[in-house]
Amino acid sequence: MSTVLVLGAGFGGISAALTLRALTPEHDVILVDRKTHFMVGFRKTWAMLDLSPLDDGRRPLSTLSRRGITVRHASVDAIEPETCSAVIDGARVQAGALVVGLGVRHAPEKIPGFAEHALNAYALQDLDRVKAALRDFRGGRIVTGVFGEPYQCPPAPYEIAIMTKEYFEARGIDTDMTVISPKPLSLWAAGEESSRRMDARMAEFGIAFRGSHKVLSVEPGAVVTDRGRLACELAFGVPPCVAVDVVRGSSLVGPDGWIPVDTWTLETRFPDVYAVGDCTKVAIGSAGQMPKAGLIAEKQGATVAHRIAERLSGQTPSTVMDGRAVCYVETGRGEGAVIGGDFLAEPEPDIRLSENSREHYTAKHTFEAERLAAWFGG
Ligand SMILES: Cc1cc2nc3c(=O)[nH]c(=O)nc-3n(C[C@H](O)[C@H](O)[C@H](O)COP(=O)(O)OP(=O)(O)OC[C@H]3O[C@@H](n4cnc5c(N)ncnc54)[C@H](O)[C@@H]3O)c2cc1C
Repeated sequence: MSTVLVLGAGFGGISAALTLRALTPEHDVILVDRKTHFMVGFRKTWAMLDLSPLDDGRRPLSTLSRRGITVRHASVDAIEPETCSAVIDGARVQAGALVVGLGVRHAPEKIPGFAEHALNAYALQDLDRVKAALRDFRGGRIVTGVFGEPYQCPPAPYEIAIMTKEYFEARGIDTDMTVISPKPLSLWAAGEESSRRMDARMAEFGIAFRGSHKVLSVEPGAVVTDRGRLACELAFGVPPCVAVDVVRGSSLVGPDGWIPVDTWTLETRFPDVYAVGDCTKVAIGSAGQMPKAGLIAEKQGATVAHRIAERLSGQTPSTVMDGRAVCYVETGRGEGAVIGGDFLAEPEPDIRLSENSREHYTAKHTFEAERLAAWFGG
């Protein structure tokens, strides 16, 4: 019997652990996370804008033990890929295969003044502060969007802009909103047509998109970019993220602080050590990097599980990553859009944003409900 050690119980880790459990019932699967609960990322947006409480979408990770997974509520102190092991709550755990899916941490400190003068639209730990600031905002200019790269879920800053605009409209508060990005296009990986569609939707809400604006700092009353100073009463953006410290402190990472993996197999440079999800770096065409998105992490987790199961049963691993994935975006007025396609199409990824529809809005909500039901039960 072998032990597969899965570090991180997010989209990637849970997907890997559950797939492994189904494929290799005879081997031990240990899933480690310092959090006690799972929740999808956009739950935070719903909670921030008083649309739905966090608790409605939180599920205890301990429930996964009913599926035969050994769930450890513990901290990963060190990763030792050379020996296919990790130090967990101070004790070394040796594994036959190791899956690293430890996600990211937001790094507002990379933008001078962000922590003091801006609100982090993504951070769970800041949720109460952000909610209170939005509740108390009495109107004026808002600068929002992408304050640094890389960041998770490329379309989410635009979704948040539209939803926040609606939040204020519903309260009769006038806002003048500008959305910025360091990239020339709002949906860079999806190309010009999809970006135009997103920009047009934002324009319907009176939101202006300004591309090629790299944020240099945030000051009281202004976001300072390389294209000039944008005066505002509220700076409310998405800061860049970095891999978590235990990953950055390991020999898995390259000089840029991310784990380089094989695009198709998610293998690291160490035998039997894989990495999935937001902590990895995967180049896709000339568009840049594989987006940091839950659906991608989930697919990577399943791919890795199949490869490990194949190897444990004595076969040569043959399963490879399928780059087809879609993600749902709320686009206001009870509508949504779907963005996706084939992220690994060659020579360039084939990614598009759909038209807006009520069905796509419903699909976003169904996406969460289906994941929670499939992973944690009714
Ligand atoms: C506001 C917002 C909206 C989003 N919307 C979408 C969307 O609509 N669709 C979509 O596909 N994606 C969306 N995303 C992105 C998605 O949430 C992430 O891409 C996804 O969670 C990445 O999965 P992962 O498994 O790599 O990491 P995570 O899901 O982040 O999991 C990593 C886990 O590792 C644990 N961990 C980290 N360090 C340690 C340690 N030292 N010891 C123990 N445990 C540790 C963490 O507690 C965490 O549970 C959104 C993100 C945000 C912030």
